[in-house]
Amino acid sequence: MSSIGIDVGGTKCHGVRVDVKGEVLAEVRYPTPPVAELVPLLGSMFKELGGTTALGIGVPGLITPEGVVKASPNMPGAFNIPVGPQLREQLGIAVHVENDATMAAFGEWKAGAARGAENAVMVTLGTGIGGGIVMSGKLQRGANGFAGEIGHMVVQRDGAECVCGRRGCWERYASGSALKMLSGGSSGEEVFAAAAAGDARALEVVDTYAQWIAVGLASLTNICDPEIIVLGGGVVDSVGVVMDAVRTSFIDALYSAQWRAHPQLVTAELGTRAGAIGSALMVLETVDR
Ligand SMILES: [Zn+2]
Repeated sequence: MSSIGIDVGGTKCHGVRVDVKGEVLAEVRYPTPPVAELVPLLGSMFKELGGTTALGIGVPGLITPEGVVKASPNMPGAFNIPVGPQLREQLGIAVHVENDATMAAFGEWKAGAARGAENAVMVTLGTGIGGGIVMSGKLQRGANGFAGEIGHMVVQRDGAECVCGRRGCWERYASGSALKMLSGGSSGEEVFAAAAAGDARALEVVDTYAQWIAVGLASLTNICDPEIIVLGGGVVDSVGVVMDAVRTSFIDALYSAQWRAHPQLVTAELGTRAGAIGSALMVLETVDR
């Protein structure tokens, strides 16, 4: 049994065929097309990957349980697109469509760094902050499927303006783009290289950034009590210097740190494939194998 997963990103659609353990058997990538051409592209990617009886798709934005994309901020004009219903009808197979960050979190839980955990929090630091929460062995979706929007947890009342229209969201302070703001326009790589070379200003930026990450992780820990936190995204993937700073700040920010077991703080394993692998594994949960 294998399944196919496609992660629809702002610029690229990344498709994989995986076995039940999440091992990648085939892979394709295409530029994300205009909205009107999205469903045909997904159908042809599915066929190019060899077809099967199950297709999972991760799309940014608000997705209904039937797989209708209600709104997707990164895709101009993407409102009420019946991705799931159309593909189910055209291909005659099981199709599951869900939020991309949720799918990436599911991938890390099933086949990545949080494998086997009963309680885990997955955090992706990119342009914004995405994530997912597993509690008591279940991915949390909430009443409407919108649980796990951890980037919009407010950490500063009346703080920096967020794309969601509110102020002070965690992602304005701890995402990859927030790091760029903190450093006055330098990229993460530039800041980390300068910090590694001992530049005092860069070290200060890294420390401040790590503290912002830690503030959110401490709140998530207070609420969810996870045994493991997985940090992913371009910022932490390759750079140990941030993880060391985050670990230190995290302990400082944690409630009753000396009286509790601390969650493991680890980096993600699946990288940019997490969303596609998670989508492929998620659809398998919905079909009889
Ligand atoms: Zn927000």
